Amino acid sequence: MESNENNPSGGSAGDIDFGFRKVSEIDHTSMVRDVFSSVAGRYDLMNDLMSGGLHRLWKAALLDRLNPRADDLLLDVAGGTGDIADGFLKRGGRAALICDINTDMLSAGSDRSLDRGAVQGPSRVCGDAAALPVPDAVADSCTIVFGLRNVTRRQQALTEMRRVLKPGGHFICMEFSPAVLPQLKPLYDAYSFRVLPWLGERIAGDGDSYGYLAESIRRFPDPETLSTEMADAGFGNINITPLTGGIVWQHSGWRI
Ligand code: SAM
Repeated sequence: MESNENNPSGGSAGDIDFGFRKVSEIDHTSMVRDVFSSVAGRYDLMNDLMSGGLHRLWKAALLDRLNPRADDLLLDVAGGTGDIADGFLKRGGRAALICDINTDMLSAGSDRSLDRGAVQGPSRVCGDAAALPVPDAVADSCTIVFGLRNVTRRQQALTEMRRVLKPGGHFICMEFSPAVLPQLKPLYDAYSFRVLPWLGERIAGDGDSYGYLAESIRRFPDPETLSTEMADAGFGNINITPLTGGIVWQHSGWRI
């Protein structure tokens, strides 16, 4: 039986954190789907506004680290509107496949590609990170960016992302974290719990989804725990890097 994998601290099966609430596994998946269906049309604009453009720098740092080679294939899990996949192709990667559970997010991304007149953009497939519709050992790199926090079965998703990598393939998870520098915390908390929902309401017409964002970050495991979960999924040479005072962390690992 599948257990409450995004809540390894305990509770009965089905007790999964959706922000500060406990919900069943089935409810978690559908509530996350509702969040991203609700914000898909304004997702990119909100990212720029709420991070003051910082998300672009964080994503550029991840792409620097990935350093695509001309024959590389990337699988970007929970890839949303496609920032990482687009950046990977721009930097010379051969092909990029986005897998996301939400068709509204995938459609917003393909509309954006069309608007930009992209000739050869990423491919897109709808699927769950915990059951990737991708064969074994096909990807040179696999990423999940601001996605793992939303995944219902996190440990299973990590195992899946290792499965689809070629031996020697590189995995990077980039995610918001509760492990923020103590001196930043009061300001960061005020921003997250007051400004974000306010901005979400005004720009995306949905304050609750941005309230969920703030809460889900506080429920996400600390960097050391996530490293252990990666090791349990079979990743090796794990390395963790904080960005912007620990607001965001990169977890890098390899299929060895
Ligand atoms: N990676 C993109 C970015 O950085 O802009 C999108 C991140 S967005 C915050 C989170 C994405 O995770 C959404 O597009 C959502 O649909 C997707 N997602 C949530 N649960 C998922 C799951 N179980 N499997 C695949 N994608 C999932």
